[in-house]
Amino acid sequence: MTKTLARKAVRRGKMGEKGGKGEKGGKGKFVYLFGAKTDGNGGMKPLLGGKGANLAEMCRIGLPVPPGFTITTEVCTYYYEHKRTYPAALKPQMGAGVASIERQTRKKFGDLNNPLLVSVRSGARDSMPGMMDTILNLGLNDQTVDALARKTGNPRFAWDCYRRFVQMYGDVVLGVQKRAGEDHEPFETAIEGLKHERYHQDIEDTKLTVEDLKELVTRFKALVKERVGREFPSSPWDQLMGAVGAVFGSWMNDRAIVYRRKYNIPTEWGTAVNVQAMVYGNTGDKSGSGVAFTRNPANGEKEFYGEFLINAQGEDVVAGVRTPEPVVELKKQMPKAYAELERIRQTLEKHFKDVQDFEFTIEDGVVYMLQTRNGKRTAMAALKFSMDMCREKLIDWKTAVMRNPADQFEQLLAPVFDVREVKSAKAIATGLPAGPGAASGQIYLNADRAVAAAEKGQPVLLVRVETSPEDLRGMIAAEGILTARGGVSSHAALVARQMGKVCVCGASAIEVDYATRKVSVDGQTFAEGDWMSIDGTAGKVYAGRVKAAPSEIVAGLINNDEAAKKTEKFRSFQQLMKWCDQATRMGVRTNADTPEQAANAIAFGAQGIGLCRTEHMFFEGDRIDAMREMILAETLEERKAALAKLLPYQRDDFAGIFRVLNGHPATIRFLDPPLHEFLPQTEHQQADLAKKLGVPVSRIHSRVEQLHEFNPMLGFRGCRLGIGYPEISAMQARAVFEAAAIVQKEGIKVHPEIMIPLVGFKKELDLQLDAVHQAAREVQAERKVKLNYMVGTMIEIPRGALMADEIAQSAEFFSFGTNDLTQTALGMSRDDSGSFLPQYAELEIIKKNPFATIDVAGVGQLVDIAVKRGRATRKDLKLGICGEHGGDPDSVRFFHQVGLDYVSCSPYRVPVARLAAAQAALTSKM
Ligand code: ADP
Ligand code: MG
Ligand code: MG
Repeated sequence: MTKTLARKAVRRGKMGEKGGKGEKGGKGKFVYLFGAKTDGNGGMKPLLGGKGANLAEMCRIGLPVPPGFTITTEVCTYYYEHKRTYPAALKPQMGAGVASIERQTRKKFGDLNNPLLVSVRSGARDSMPGMMDTILNLGLNDQTVDALARKTGNPRFAWDCYRRFVQMYGDVVLGVQKRAGEDHEPFETAIEGLKHERYHQDIEDTKLTVEDLKELVTRFKALVKERVGREFPSSPWDQLMGAVGAVFGSWMNDRAIVYRRKYNIPTEWGTAVNVQAMVYGNTGDKSGSGVAFTRNPANGEKEFYGEFLINAQGEDVVAGVRTPEPVVELKKQMPKAYAELERIRQTLEKHFKDVQDFEFTIEDGVVYMLQTRNGKRTAMAALKFSMDMCREKLIDWKTAVMRNPADQFEQLLAPVFDVREVKSAKAIATGLPAGPGAASGQIYLNADRAVAAAEKGQPVLLVRVETSPEDLRGMIAAEGILTARGGVSSHAALVARQMGKVCVCGASAIEVDYATRKVSVDGQTFAEGDWMSIDGTAGKVYAGRVKAAPSEIVAGLINNDEAAKKTEKFRSFQQLMKWCDQATRMGVRTNADTPEQAANAIAFGAQGIGLCRTEHMFFEGDRIDAMREMILAETLEERKAALAKLLPYQRDDFAGIFRVLNGHPATIRFLDPPLHEFLPQTEHQQADLAKKLGVPVSRIHSRVEQLHEFNPMLGFRGCRLGIGYPEISAMQARAVFEAAAIVQKEGIKVHPEIMIPLVGFKKELDLQLDAVHQAAREVQAERKVKLNYMVGTMIEIPRGALMADEIAQSAEFFSFGTNDLTQTALGMSRDDSGSFLPQYAELEIIKKNPFATIDVAGVGQLVDIAVKRGRATRKDLKLGICGEHGGDPDSVRFFHQVGLDYVSCSPYRVPVARLAAAQAALTSKM
């Protein structure tokens, strides 16, 4: 293929991407150097991936980074669009890259005196930890290994590198992995076999001799040959090209796909590949590898947090072969290196102005940086970081607001264990507090069984010796994760931080037996299905169920608990919310049907009710009987009599709500669901009702039959009910106004906003308006009050959105009912979508569940049209949204952009919505 064609292909791959891959790639620059000369920088993540961009950035600020180069993500796109081949210019550019590393290290790739070894590392735009595989010590073969041994005078080290290389390359590139039914990696089995043959026990890898390592290399190669059918590649360049192909290939492996789906990372982004000179943490006791955070990412404390292993390469730290030591231990063992790490820690935070998660290697006392990125953190840590860093003047208050991920924010409201309960419970084990919060659940020891149990509705605690990416589905399904092994950088800890799972890891006292599916600890044995509890804030494990108590924030705001209000968590939360109010343009209301819900929401900062569903009021106690009487009525007179019974109930409910709202507005939606939902459906219940109401059961039968609909979602519901039975709307309006009059006379301001559902025609609204205004006139005259009210409509079917200009002539406000608007715009029933949506997600027909996150491209257009047309008719048209989407951060951002006045969501989502609304306002100003 010619260069021009290749260029076009690359361009095509990035169509429609904003701020996407750079223009340079089009000119055929596929390789970016870092080291003495650095081509890239930290802002180039789309092109260089997160790892590559930050390696470049670290070089630029003078941190010690081994030299190397990054192959761009454009090559990955090209690779998949061209039957897994590369642009012609790649190889020569890589040649120049290798030559540059050679000059800087004074080593040579494949050299028989002083061989250069490299690592080949993947690096997507967003970090995808554990998803893609890294190959270390590439460039070794039977000749270069001797050269390395001679040059360093350390044959053990050289053969340790070679052993690792053949193993990693065999696994990642050549695919020698455990087969179905095998419990262990074949290479690990070979290592164990040799240890038992020669030492009759499991010894640490560091105890293996040169002879052992040589023998392992021989066995590994034989294993490769047996499994793959060809020799292990000995030419360094063959090795390099194979490794690059494997990294690009891993972009489409199952683990990566599952991860991308969970975090909505588009497949088009692709991964970059980093090729970098090796530095060696395995030369002896003056060397080692580690990972660290500039602050504690679990609880947010300002402390150096991390771990390291002496005489090890980086993979060992995360692989859990040996148990790492806390990074502060280095202070004693290698004071100089520790001081350097402390310096680096400060430099990183000063430069990146955020908490960094970094990887380092110490080679004979010298520290090298191999990676840095913004550290994943729990919501708890994010809150503390943002407050502390603002106080330290590293960031301003607006950045502090942005630093709290809205989609994790709800974690802060999650229950914690009840202090009294915990005092009386005895911890049976302790481990690392890796994910704060409290979780009780029935234990399962494998991901599949955990998922199955969770699907049955059981709260699940996933218990493993340690977790690996294969366990991801189980971890997602579980309430909490408990592992026996693994430190702060273990897979379990990492995932807990990212997903906000409650997690205790490395609780070494527990014994997990996969064969018998039992966990034993402290003399007790637990089988699958038994209950255990973990406290991820304290790192404690309990037998059975421990009672949970509300989070300090909930306790402080809702229960008015004074002790809770004094906690740092509570005060930080309040400060953050104050900042949010300073930043936001949109208001946040709540969906509430009872005074209690409304009171909770107000405590969380809601500025009124955006949706009060009146039908929910009909289900309580005896009310349902009056409701049923109304539905069964055969004459208008009968119906009116039944409605008269309902009126006082509704009036009292509304009065209760108005009192709690204390002047905040309340949007009250008139009866919406189809009437059959109120009638009993089983024979037995119908017979009961007949007896209660003293009517023949046949009457109930026939009414149920009459009301039967093929498609109730699109049937006789919404304003259609009020049009068919104007007396229902009249009763509801009267209840609202009488309540308003009563509460107003108590000296409390009242702002009812009556909302007519499911309007598609202006005339529908007008007919209802007449009923509402008449009731208002009557009540005002009877009670001699002047009431302040509005009447508006829900925009929830496409025709309503399209005809918004006309409808706005009558409506004083719109509230977007995005649940129904999504159903009707997509022609997709939310309640039936479970049977096909998962496949749609898999095939990437849709990126996110449209019932959770608004479909901006489609449904969003209807909202946009309705906003524009509505406001063209009525400049001060009040606009809000009251669907599920009101509490979804991504959707909130869209509602801000499209110009709504407020979003409304369930009470416990109010803080999330406030944060998301503030962030949307800040982002649009940036
Ligand atoms: P991941 O994305 O899974 O973290 P990395 O590419 O960061 O994978 O590699 C994992 C580890 O391998 C690193 O943390 C580091 O310890 C080690 N490593 C990678 N490149 C080098 C190198 N050039 N020299 C020494 N160790 C390296
Ligand atoms: Mg890494
Ligand atoms: Mg609706």
